Amino acid sequence: MSLETVSPKSKLVHLVETLRDMVFPPVCANCRKVGKLVCPACYQQIQWIKKPVCSSCGRVVASDQLVCKGCFAQPLPLAQIRAATVFTEPISTIIHKLKYEGVFGLGDVLADMMVYAWHQWQIGVDVVAPIPLHPDREKKRGYNQSALLAQRFSQQVGLAYAPDLLKRTKFTVPQVSLNAEERAKNVQDAFAVADGRFGGRRVLLIDDVCTTGSTMTAAACVLLECGATAVSGYCLARAM
Ligand SMILES: [Zn+2]
Ligand SMILES: [Zn+2]
Repeated sequence: MSLETVSPKSKLVHLVETLRDMVFPPVCANCRKVGKLVCPACYQQIQWIKKPVCSSCGRVVASDQLVCKGCFAQPLPLAQIRAATVFTEPISTIIHKLKYEGVFGLGDVLADMMVYAWHQWQIGVDVVAPIPLHPDREKKRGYNQSALLAQRFSQQVGLAYAPDLLKRTKFTVPQVSLNAEERAKNVQDAFAVADGRFGGRRVLLIDDVCTTGSTMTAAACVLLECGATAVSGYCLARAM
């Protein structure tokens, strides 16, 4: 599978950022303190997700609960969704900087948080793939933040990386503005297989934020229909 994940434009953005960092040292994406992209004080405030979590969707549950009420009523098609952190301050502000303010360099820092939290989940995986953006949105942003996370994460944990398993075929409005029902409808038929070389393999989908799981669900259904043996999801931050 191709290892080419970063477009020439993104490479240029990366080069420009590296040069810029030499002249203007990084500032914390949350508190603006000079020195690191996430300063030690803000790093300390990150809320890591720990067991017990719903064995299906990964939300924190009471210790005697195997699955949450939502998953009991409507099981996910995914084997499981897990996340590194709770989607709250400061990680929500930091993710916003990565997605909407062009702080490309945060990709590695945030991927390393996913690596740090990964060991506790024990998920069997053969290949890692990002949730794709629609090409128009990726062109505008210059990169897909989920691909930045997925590439670095797979490299660090030693898993095969397949950047192009899926493509986004529908230009969807941002999920953040929608309720659960609208989210599911918004991403319905939004994905298609772009690279079919995952038949008989267990796929791990990577995304930055998971709220209702509808994006992961829509992407997983396409992969399962096309022969993946199991699909799991892992995201940087989970809304609870
Ligand atoms: Zn800070
Ligand atoms: Zn659940």
